[in-house]
Amino acid sequence: MTEFVYQCSTCGRTYKRDEVRYLCPACSKEYKPGMPLVGVLSARFDYAAIRKRFKKTSPDWNLFSAVEPKYYPPYPAGNTPFFKSAALGEKFGFANLWLKNDGLNPSGSLKDRASFLVVAEAKRIREKSIVTASTGNAASALAAVCAAAGRQAVILVPKTAPKAKLVQMLLYGARVIPVNGTYDDAFRLSLEYTACKGGLNRNTAYHPLTIEGKKTVGLEIFAQNSFKAPDAILVPVGDGVIIGGAYKAFYDLKAAGLIARLPRFICVQAERSSAIHRYIETGRYQNASNPATIADSISVSIPSNAHMARTAVLESGGFSVTVTDGEILAGQRDLAQKTGIFAEPAAAATVAALKKLQKSKLLGRNEQIVLLITGHGLKDIEAALKNIRIPPSVEPTMKGLNAGAGAAVHRRSRV
Ligand SMILES: *Cc1c(COP(=O)(O)O)cnc(C)c1O
Ligand SMILES: [Zn+2]
Repeated sequence: MTEFVYQCSTCGRTYKRDEVRYLCPACSKEYKPGMPLVGVLSARFDYAAIRKRFKKTSPDWNLFSAVEPKYYPPYPAGNTPFFKSAALGEKFGFANLWLKNDGLNPSGSLKDRASFLVVAEAKRIREKSIVTASTGNAASALAAVCAAAGRQAVILVPKTAPKAKLVQMLLYGARVIPVNGTYDDAFRLSLEYTACKGGLNRNTAYHPLTIEGKKTVGLEIFAQNSFKAPDAILVPVGDGVIIGGAYKAFYDLKAAGLIARLPRFICVQAERSSAIHRYIETGRYQNASNPATIADSISVSIPSNAHMARTAVLESGGFSVTVTDGEILAGQRDLAQKTGIFAEPAAAATVAALKKLQKSKLLGRNEQIVLLITGHGLKDIEAALKNIRIPPSVEPTMKGLNAGAGAAVHRRSRV
């Protein structure tokens, strides 16, 4: 760990580490449920110290961490594969396309990174229970990390969350409270819950270490890419914390003198859940009125980290795109069939965006482009079932196979 202060992303005031817990006390007076968070805090490190102590020959990534390693839970989050996919790149005409497969985290999504750091913080400040509202993945991740750390997870999720995600959190032993309402309702209720009953609130962006935790995905991309920043990173965006965190990684690296320029951050949203997209395009913020999308992990009406997400895109010279559910499902199929990666719909939105951008000038043919694959496909097979047809069965004889539907499948696969 390196010394740091918290800086308010709205007013710029700074606070000592233990002086604040969630939002900037000055700005959060302006916050009312029903709007994006104001006064979200960002850790500002002693970058001169990092610059002096960081060595590429034996990199100490803990220098970029906001919690001392002695508090880390015994839970191996991160260190996910980063690799080039020539086949997927070729399909869309990009010569240098790379994937960061964060679906291979222990609980199956990038959310493990945020839960890991917040649970470490809970140990440091001796909070026994950690509370979160979630569309599903943040909760499964929190439940898993709490299980490993011997702490209690309390979870508020919309009752419509995909079954596999509910199964995960219950099996890990969390206290799960399904909410008759949307994710945004659960978010508001969880703030009231910790205000009344205590515990550490892990709501995304509300707790500043969710951003710092997600930052590690950017640090890993930098390390795995031979200590270079790629040209562009496509990120599926719901609340805007993954994009804010990945941006923060490169912000820190630049501040520490390790890179000269930031990668461009490309915000990818579902067409009907696109409050941040519209905010970036128009400069005016408005909630998404009905954020219905098959990509449940990026379905949000009032994105908590809208302001920081917009900053990440604008400051990095990036841009924003939206994709439809049909395009997301096609992206899920393309990714599976060209790379062998089964991603949940939110994660596959990046593939849909890439396809949409193949004819535009916004991404160069030879630029190094990274798709952030944020969650595993087995988390929501109901969605994937819309993509495929399970063939009818045949009698277990060659005669039956030749006569039945299997024959048609066989003939088709030979051409
Ligand atoms: C949470 C999540 C996202 C979106 O992250 P935000 O921080 O809410 O923008 C994207 N994909 C998956 C799989 C997620 O779980
Ligand atoms: Zn402030």
